[in-house]
Amino acid sequence: MRFHTFLLKYGEIGIKGKNRYLFEDALVRQVRYALKDVEGTFNVYKSQARIYVDCEGEYDYDDTVEHLKRVFGLVGICPVVRMEDQGFDQLKKDVVAYMDEVYPDKKLSFKVEARRARKSYPKTSMEINCDLGEAILDAFPETHVDVHKPDVMLHVEVRNEIYVYSQIIPGAGGMPVGTNGSAMLLLSGGIDSPVAGYMISKRGVGLEATYFHAPPYTSERAKQKVVDLAKIVARYSGPIKLHVVNFTDIQLYIYDQCPHDELTIIMRRYMMRIAEHFAKADGCLGMITGESIGQVASQTMHSLAATNDVCTLPVYRPVIGFDKQEIVDISEKIDTYETSIQPYEDCCTIFVAKHPVTKPNIEVIRRSEEKLAEKIDAMVQEAIDTVEVIEVTP
Ligand code: ATP
Ligand code: MG
Repeated sequence: MRFHTFLLKYGEIGIKGKNRYLFEDALVRQVRYALKDVEGTFNVYKSQARIYVDCEGEYDYDDTVEHLKRVFGLVGICPVVRMEDQGFDQLKKDVVAYMDEVYPDKKLSFKVEARRARKSYPKTSMEINCDLGEAILDAFPETHVDVHKPDVMLHVEVRNEIYVYSQIIPGAGGMPVGTNGSAMLLLSGGIDSPVAGYMISKRGVGLEATYFHAPPYTSERAKQKVVDLAKIVARYSGPIKLHVVNFTDIQLYIYDQCPHDELTIIMRRYMMRIAEHFAKADGCLGMITGESIGQVASQTMHSLAATNDVCTLPVYRPVIGFDKQEIVDISEKIDTYETSIQPYEDCCTIFVAKHPVTKPNIEVIRRSEEKLAEKIDAMVQEAIDTVEVIEVTP
């Protein structure tokens, strides 16, 4: 079956009232972005509280659906057959042909649901329902009508042309990106932080990201892995401005000056401070990490409190209550898993202590940081000044 249009359904919650057009415009923008690199010519527009994608000429159906499934805010993607209005007898034939092709197994119940955007059409919606229903029953006696719980809800929309659809492919859900500000994701090469970014973006939040590397202790390949992860997340979130921060000198200095069992916590505090600097400079309204309670020593409740202590923006930790396997399941679904498990060194693992504190005391940590007083401000400034910014698109 050749589909000429997609009718896109979005959730009703939160989009009522005067903000509705903002949601719709953001959705149209995100749909255009998602289809940018798909083979074909697409015309995306809104009309009568719906969003349509008309596909002009040849296009790749599977790839189009795959890309539409990544657009947050869509709950359903309906492939539509557009029929020229050549009279009701022809419509009956076309609708019967549609049912025949889309549903090879005819042991099904159906209901016709007509809707007239063009009120001058010679039949009422009720008449269309009855007459098309009868035509289908005549053609396929194994079918039957069920007006309450039909297997197939056959929608017939009378516009300039006639739109026929019955399939609803589930969409990504959530809210369109761009309707809820932006946040700064601390993106490492691991499994958790890309998932965290995806989850917050799903609620309509645009993403920026910061990655800390420690050349020459971490390789160019480790950095490329993070860029690759950002590319995958950007399929959903839209473009990501990625800040790559050289963290080597700060890490070495902390290693020299501070108790080794506190290294990870102090390092994480400096990561948060620097990421927050970029977040504020760009107007981000929060920060995002992939932390999950108890996963490692630096993610106990005490450690999280110590890390949080240096932040003034809210820190969103969407996987905080997830087990590792639950995070892995999402990473597989969004396709970051295979990239995340590539074995490249992470800047945190290089300087880790054998026995890190699991219950850091914030006062003690603050006192340890005083040992950095001589040089740390200049080093942080240097890290900020030498940041490499990469505009990541899928
Ligand atoms: P992930 O799987 O996301 O790497 P993790 O289990 O390895 O997480 P940690 O290394 O303790 O956990 O990091 C916790 C969080 O801190 C990460 O989810 C990420 O948000 C942030 N983070 C850690 N290392 C880096 C880094 N090198 N650059 C940027 N952010 C980082
Ligand atoms: Mg990590």
